[in-house]
Amino acid sequence: MIKNIAPLLGLACLLWACTPAKAPEEAAASPQPTAADARPVAARSAAPAPEPAFDIDYLTGRFDPATHPDFAKVDKRYTNRDDFYLHRTAYEAFERMYAAALRDNIRLEVLSATRNFNRQKQIWEAKWRGERKLEGGEAAPQAYPDPAQRALAILRYSSMPGTSRHHWGTDLDLVALNNEFFAQGEGKRIYDWLAANAPGFGFCQPYSPKGAARPHGYEEEKWHWSYLPLSQPLSTLAAQQLRNEDIKGFEGAETAAAIDVVNKYVLGINPACK
Ligand SMILES: [Zn+2]
Repeated sequence: MIKNIAPLLGLACLLWACTPAKAPEEAAASPQPTAADARPVAARSAAPAPEPAFDIDYLTGRFDPATHPDFAKVDKRYTNRDDFYLHRTAYEAFERMYAAALRDNIRLEVLSATRNFNRQKQIWEAKWRGERKLEGGEAAPQAYPDPAQRALAILRYSSMPGTSRHHWGTDLDLVALNNEFFAQGEGKRIYDWLAANAPGFGFCQPYSPKGAARPHGYEEEKWHWSYLPLSQPLSTLAAQQLRNEDIKGFEGAETAAAIDVVNKYVLGINPACK
């Protein structure tokens, strides 16, 4: 239950040196009467309701970002799509980061933002049925008759519905969807900028290189960035409450437990983003 993210924002800003330095000061000043406390009772009762608590439905993307009150549409200046949404708090942080990058002649184009359960189900089931080929060109049902092997093959490039961080409105894909682009030249300059500066705006790369520190989960994605002041509490909620049995409602969902998709994929992230 996330009733008030201000202390979390403060903690995140202490850890990642957020550029907007208000939150730590507010957190440090919490024993003092706040501006809200000083307001007349009538004004306080008229204040907007606190943000709804995150729950399993939210974690698994069972909502429509286009109508969710906490979501904002991503402006056309950031993307050439007109159907991208982000949680407002993450979006505002992204806008600040985008502006800072632009001052260094870097354009952080948004290539993907929120994808809800239904959208991920379409992608997943098209691959599961073989209507959409896997990245190697094979049809999944023929190449992988065993359901768990088929699910693992799809998981190399697509997340299972209900397990994607893109459900949360906190994560976005930037600039290019391949690691090679970010390995040299202009791509490397962009990645180096993000690695150095994104943490200051609250963003972290959850899909860091696989290895001892991150043995499970999706392969490295240098383009995928997550807004920690929101996604960190969501990861904690997933660790505490999300079960493989909650990953359901699509073809192949029966493989979730055998794969242990919650522990290995949802929670198999860069330790620095936990
Ligand atoms: Zn992504």
